[in-house]
Amino acid sequence: DSSSGSSGFFSKRTFPGRVPAGIGRKSLRIVVTGGAGFVGSHLVDKLISRGDEVIVIDNFFTGRKENLVHLFRNPRFELIRHDVVEPILLEVDQIYHLACPASPVHYKYNPTNVMGTLNMLGLAKRVGARFLPTSTSEVYGDPLEHPQKETYWGNVNPIGERSCYDEGKRTAETLTMDYHRGADVEVRIARIFNTYGPRMCLDDGRVVSNFVAQVIRKQPMTVYGDGKQTRSFQYVSDLVDGLVALMEGEHVGPFNLGNPGEFTMLELAEVVKETVDSSATIEFKPNTADDPHKRKPDISKAKELLNWEPRISLREGLPLMVNDFRNRILNGDEGKGL
Ligand code: NAD
Ligand code: UDP
Ligand code: UDP
Repeated sequence: DSSSGSSGFFSKRTFPGRVPAGIGRKSLRIVVTGGAGFVGSHLVDKLISRGDEVIVIDNFFTGRKENLVHLFRNPRFELIRHDVVEPILLEVDQIYHLACPASPVHYKYNPTNVMGTLNMLGLAKRVGARFLPTSTSEVYGDPLEHPQKETYWGNVNPIGERSCYDEGKRTAETLTMDYHRGADVEVRIARIFNTYGPRMCLDDGRVVSNFVAQVIRKQPMTVYGDGKQTRSFQYVSDLVDGLVALMEGEHVGPFNLGNPGEFTMLELAEVVKETVDSSATIEFKPNTADDPHKRKPDISKAKELLNWEPRISLREGLPLMVNDFRNRILNGDEGKGL
């Protein structure tokens, strides 16, 4: 029976029930891998605030304890320094798997997407937990369909500089579906589109964080290529609501989670300028290899089946992030976490 796990150390076990959380619902024990990172720490806040127990696994590659320090005294919160590439034994109900070097400057470093996902799937199989991997719009590569629906198979270069991320996430989706079909693991697959907000890594090279930090530091915004490529930017609280709706819902997915509002990088620079400092300037830099020309989610599936859609526009969300960035830059807290 492939669903019962191997014998010995990793054999299937049961674990004791937990204290009730509020009215009408049992408290869940939930693992968030990558929970010290940008998205993960906001997700942890939401899960803790609704009464669940949360265990964060993070190796602090890009994440920071500062993102979670406000929870250290909470008895329902635990933080484990651990690399998900190594096996781990825990007894939990749900696993949100976010651990991943998630920006171009970091993601070449290790095989987290494959080995980390495999270990978390092994854990989910052994304890009967529901597993939610955070895949990405990058699985669509440089898309030939626009906007992208979940049914689109993508246009990915398997041997390029970004491939370890794109193909790593595609492999993570494949492993997830294999464990679902082959070992009856309950899974929920999210494909996240570009997301921004407070606690983003300041210098990990993503465009919104780069532009905002550059303008606060009175540097020109670096526009790569001609700046006519597009992205669709989602505020982090909308994403967190979507991840929880997906985990709690009845549908495996994959589901696109993103904000369909589409901007060229030149338009984004204009919004950042309006929001942060009207004297901001731009400078053009050569673009990176295999940069997708456009990207915009079709979110009809999530709207219909998860009853979810983003609520915060770029112009509303950006000021919330700018406050956090101003404080961190002024305090000299560069927050690379490396
Ligand atoms: P982040 O870099 O802030 O968070 C990633 C976290 O994973 C960090 O805390 C890091 O320390 C941790 N981590 C990395 N490798 C690890 C390992 N081997 N073991 C344990 N922990 C490890 O990035 P984020 O933006 O919060 O991204 C979270 C997830 O969402 C990632 O899986 C990412 O691929 C996915 N995603 C994010 C976006 C986005 O725009 N932010 C878009 C698509 C997908
Ligand atoms: N694993 C883990 N924690 C667990 C159960 C499994 O980290 O509680 C790891 C285990 O080390 C293995 C991977 O998950 O490398 C896949 O486990 P699975 O049982 O599916 O595979 P098997 O061990 O049978 O090859
Ligand atoms: N980009 C840019 N200036 C920067 C960083 C990125 O113009 O300082 C561009 C990049 O070339 C890409 C877009 O912004 O076209 C989004 O890049 P990011 O790395 O944020 O996300 P992804 O490429 O993964 O969507």
